[in-house]
Amino acid sequence: MRMQRSLIYDISGEELKNVVVELGESSFRADQILDGVYIKRARAFSEIMNIPKGLRIKLDERFIVDPLTVKDISSSTDGTQKILFELQDDHHIESVVIPERDDRYTLCLSTQAGCMLDCAFCATGKLKFGRNLQAAEIIAQLIDSERITGKKITNIVYMGMGEPLLNYEETIKSLNILTEGKTKLIGKKRITLSTVGVLPEMVRFRNDNPGVKLALSLHATTDEQRQKIIPIARKYKLRDLLDELELFYKKFRDPITFEYILFNDFNDSDEDVKRLSKICRAFPSKVNIIPYHQSNIKTGSIDLKSTRKMEIERFSNKLRSSGTNVFVRDSSGLDINAACGQLALSVQNNDT
Ligand code: SAH
Repeated sequence: MRMQRSLIYDISGEELKNVVVELGESSFRADQILDGVYIKRARAFSEIMNIPKGLRIKLDERFIVDPLTVKDISSSTDGTQKILFELQDDHHIESVVIPERDDRYTLCLSTQAGCMLDCAFCATGKLKFGRNLQAAEIIAQLIDSERITGKKITNIVYMGMGEPLLNYEETIKSLNILTEGKTKLIGKKRITLSTVGVLPEMVRFRNDNPGVKLALSLHATTDEQRQKIIPIARKYKLRDLLDELELFYKKFRDPITFEYILFNDFNDSDEDVKRLSKICRAFPSKVNIIPYHQSNIKTGSIDLKSTRKMEIERFSNKLRSSGTNVFVRDSSGLDINAACGQLALSVQNNDT
């Protein structure tokens, strides 16, 4: 019987050297394997022709190259593509490729199959929590998205399914491998990790971050309001989160991003503009205003509704005139349910 194989994208350059030596080969072979896997994008070790055949066979006995299977691809009229992947144990995750201006492409990737946090507006929270992804499964989303779309991904956001800081070790490992010079996958400053605000892990992340940017899913300007839509906000207060973000800013000197989904008559008042601009003034930051992708999920006891385009403009302009950096995100892929978790949710519902 074949032994359980590990995932090659899980292995750092240094670890790979040890593996190669263990297999009785010279350590320089590790660089050739990295080149074959990450730069030439081999899908099997048999494709890496500059290493000896014996080594190719041994690697194939020990490692799997790509652990993801593509199950579905949906393309939006605006060019956004959403890819549904199946993991080896049948869980599903999704990644979204969003075209930006000037031939740039942002990949939104997942860190968990499902999510434990159950935010009122988010479809992923309605999925049964599956499991944490391994670093290799995070990295494979980039490699497969580029292969499937034929585009070079220029930016990555850790904003798909799951809370990256609750899959802490594998998230950090994936960031290290993605930004490791030899894999030539993507630069540190091209990655943004988004968290809902898990304070203890944010403190840890300040120490372990290889240099990527940070975003907080704010979505409300008071604790009371935030707790109505984000259950974990009962545990971690805004004041403490903002203090931590300030420390993070002081260490890395990159502006912090605040994600703010605009809900009609919930977080779009003039008072919200005032509070939000005050929050943003404490340290260099920017706000992404996100239109609410309304789906037919239950949002708990409150009725969340999307805000009309004109209202989004009004809110954003007011915020801008208070001196805040504001970006209004397009509703990318509305027609293909590209909001977090929607596609995998429909798969799970069909399964059960
Ligand atoms: N857990 C992390 C990463 C998940 S991404 C976090 O909360 O930041 C979460 C992002 O998905 C939110 O900031 C929001 O931008 C987006 N999102 C989730 N549900 C959405 C919805 N229904 N409409 C619009 N954006 C949504």
